[in-house]
Amino acid sequence: MVLPGSSRNAFVSMPNTQSKAGPRPTPGSGVLDFIAIGLGPFNLSLACLAEPIGDLHGLFLERNEDFDWHPGMLIDDTTLQNPFLADLVSLADPKSQFSFLNYCKQEGKLYAYYIRERFYLSRAEYNRYCKWAIGQLSSIAFGSQVERVEYVERDGGHYVVSGRHVRTGAPFVHRAARLVIGVGSVPQLPPCCEAAREHCIHSAHYVARKRELQGKRSIAVIGSGQSAAEIFYDLLKESDEHDYSLTWITRSPRFFQMENTKLTLEMISPDYIDYFYNLPDHVREGIIARQDSLYKGVNASLINQIYDLLDDRRSRGRNHARLITNSELTGCHYDRAGERFQLRFVQRDEGVQYAHATDGAIFATGYGQNVPGFIDGIRERIRWDDRGRYRLSRNYAIDVNERDIFVQNAGLYSHGLTNPDLGMSCYRNSCILRELTGVEHYKIERRIALQDFSVPDTDAFVKAPLETQ
Ligand SMILES: Cc1cc2nc3c(=O)[nH]c(=O)nc-3n(C[C@H](O)[C@H](O)[C@H](O)COP(=O)(O)OP(=O)(O)OC[C@H]3O[C@@H](n4cnc5c(N)ncnc54)[C@H](O)[C@@H]3O)c2cc1C
Repeated sequence: MVLPGSSRNAFVSMPNTQSKAGPRPTPGSGVLDFIAIGLGPFNLSLACLAEPIGDLHGLFLERNEDFDWHPGMLIDDTTLQNPFLADLVSLADPKSQFSFLNYCKQEGKLYAYYIRERFYLSRAEYNRYCKWAIGQLSSIAFGSQVERVEYVERDGGHYVVSGRHVRTGAPFVHRAARLVIGVGSVPQLPPCCEAAREHCIHSAHYVARKRELQGKRSIAVIGSGQSAAEIFYDLLKESDEHDYSLTWITRSPRFFQMENTKLTLEMISPDYIDYFYNLPDHVREGIIARQDSLYKGVNASLINQIYDLLDDRRSRGRNHARLITNSELTGCHYDRAGERFQLRFVQRDEGVQYAHATDGAIFATGYGQNVPGFIDGIRERIRWDDRGRYRLSRNYAIDVNERDIFVQNAGLYSHGLTNPDLGMSCYRNSCILRELTGVEHYKIERRIALQDFSVPDTDAFVKAPLETQ
């Protein structure tokens, strides 16, 4: 089946079977089972897992003309933070034709991969793998910017998704019983940068703006997550050629590594989601605030590489870099005449604030939740928390009936640190597909951890409410 106005669209299908969460009544003609909006790795994983399911009619709408995974951070030699098994499908279906190993086999790379023993793919290779998977899918319509979603009661009730084709500006309209929103997150600058916004370069645009930055005499890298570390290292490696000075400044008390010891990695699990999801809102907020080192830190190997290079530069009397922790950016002014940033920081431990002038600055200050404008037409069908964020059901639905609108990568405060992790994509998509079809097409692991996150429910551990102690 081909949809009007889309170039690479067809459908996957499966027989409807009974389920509690289940399939909705058969939609009227022209009404798809689901429309997925956005094609990052999470919805792409859904597309791959949905492809072999017969009779499930889905369409994936992506505004870009092609897939490119965070192109602004496709720096040479950077790798994924997960082993290759966290590909688009393997943790749901290791036999899938869309697995990374099948990609290697089909592309004649399998033996080279076996010999290299590099379990952490380069980001560029992951990008090529995703493009290869897309080449085999027929359910994706690129260049389709979704602008509006509405709900109509007719034909058993369904969503009307409209927008325009990016290249031609021509409008499109599609209809579906359900939605899966996977629009990713949005680059975030500290609030104090608002007035200088047009001059601030976010890490999301680093690669495209790198040459411009390298033309400056001094560059400040703000932030100390993985992106900041990769950018600092990339600029440091080339600083001799360009002769700029580098300053790396972070609010964090130290340049901390991302924890990845095995018992900590067990927190990226269905067990931990169940535990975390059932805690009160304020407790979850507090936990997330204390978990920076679990999902915001830097790979230990990269910290070591940075150290070694800095030390080497120092030995050769060529160190033009400075690293400063404990410094919160509180002011950011761009002086147009002098073409310089005037930055202001607070060092709370010492009780001082200080100014720092720099010609160039790159802000690796993270990403925030993306609540897209196109949902304005269905706001009242969505559950919100008191901070204006989606309130997710355990199975990733955000609508009031907990069965119509699903979200990818929008549940940090409900499902915890598993939310942005590529390694949990297959799990989440197996759950979403079960909700969409009423059938557990991919076996969903309930328990994988060796440890208990809740107090164990056995006679050996006697629970009592805190107040009675
Ligand atoms: C540089 C970087 C490296 C990362 N590395 C890792 C890693 O190694 N391991 C890990 O577990 N996690 C990693 N992450 C975190 C996370 O897994 C990624 O951010 C991942 O890309 C998120 O995927 P997504 O599908 O949610 O969104 P995205 O990849 O952001 O994709 C969203 C898509 O939605 C499209 N879209 C948005 N609005 C519309 C609209 N209105 N109409 C149509 N399309 C729209 C966008 O064009 C985009 O293509 C990394 C994040 C970053 C920034």
